[in-house]
Amino acid sequence: MTQIKVRYNNEGYIPYKDWRLLLMPKKTSSSQKEKLKLAFYWAASCGGCEIAVLDIDEKILDVAEIAEILFWPVAIDTKYKEIEEMEDNYIDVCFFNGSVRTEEQEKLAFLLRKKSKILVSFGACSVHGGIPGLANVANKKQVFDVAYLNNPSTENPEKTIPKTRVKVKEGELTLPDFFDTVKSLDQTVAVDYYLHGCPPTPDQIMNAVNAIVENKLPPKGSVIGPLKSVCDECRFEKTEKKIKKIKRIYELDKFEEKCLLEQGVICMGPATRGGCNARCLDANMPCTGCGGPTPNSLDQGGKMISSLAAILGVEGEEGMSDEQVDKLIADIVDPLGTFYKYTLPTSIINRKVIKE
Ligand code: SF4
Ligand code: SF4
Ligand code: SF4
Repeated sequence: MTQIKVRYNNEGYIPYKDWRLLLMPKKTSSSQKEKLKLAFYWAASCGGCEIAVLDIDEKILDVAEIAEILFWPVAIDTKYKEIEEMEDNYIDVCFFNGSVRTEEQEKLAFLLRKKSKILVSFGACSVHGGIPGLANVANKKQVFDVAYLNNPSTENPEKTIPKTRVKVKEGELTLPDFFDTVKSLDQTVAVDYYLHGCPPTPDQIMNAVNAIVENKLPPKGSVIGPLKSVCDECRFEKTEKKIKKIKRIYELDKFEEKCLLEQGVICMGPATRGGCNARCLDANMPCTGCGGPTPNSLDQGGKMISSLAAILGVEGEEGMSDEQVDKLIADIVDPLGTFYKYTLPTSIINRKVIKE
């Protein structure tokens, strides 16, 4: 593969405008092999998945050599109208990150599905609803109430909240509607492949790009990732030791080089799909479950609760009193956010039912 010459600045980074030059569509002569046409979109996203694409470092140059990026709102200024004007299936592969929670994101999901041969659900938010999906314990009214009206850092005497249409002297302003429920991408449109993680690691991204380029993609509907759990990749060994008390990592008297769960810290490793090489455990932090459920598991939170029950010795309650069981469970701070941090919208419980 020929090398593209780019400038590095004093800190060793490629200046922003050079990234843009690299990523802008380039004209190919008829004698050159046609480049792969890519699109990236962010829906309800923190932007971390976009950074993850840049985290592939100098390999971005290889990607730029074989692909042209037609749409990437964070980096290039392609208008929605230009996508609408493309023939159906014109884009070879679209990587879609973020969950779907507004009218605009839903519209883009439908549009990009129509215009793309392959649609990849990229990152935990897109695959399972992710952290934005925790808002499914509330509805739009409750979310707006906390965000715009009743919180300690907001002063809003007029009680102004976003509206889809607002008349101003210059005309009418519009905003996309905000839905009551956060959805994963595949709860909105059909998805061809899944790339899990919050965000996917550079290795996972390059594996997916290589599989696409070499035409070695698994059957449609597959996760592009290994069929193992985070525990399988973790450097700590599990010994089936029972624990008596649940602790948070800072409550450990001393950190021992052994399984965190067996030290009493909730680690989502047994219920989480691997592929990240257990990178949080390398930093002595527990897995919070961003890889989503392990293969063949329907519900990540349910699986973790059952693993925890086994290690706590409360399966069948084994002679424990109700008070003892209640006390153990009370030690779990924020059970929903612990067990369903990334997967509430695609879990069996899915969302809280709110009576108006
Ligand atoms: S998956 Fe993680 S990094 Fe990606 S958009 Fe969601 S929160 Fe951000
Ligand atoms: S539970 Fe956590 S610390 Fe223990 S082996 Fe699994 S991933 Fe490692
Ligand atoms: S260890 Fe867990 S939380 Fe950390 S990156 Fe891997 S799957 Fe995500």
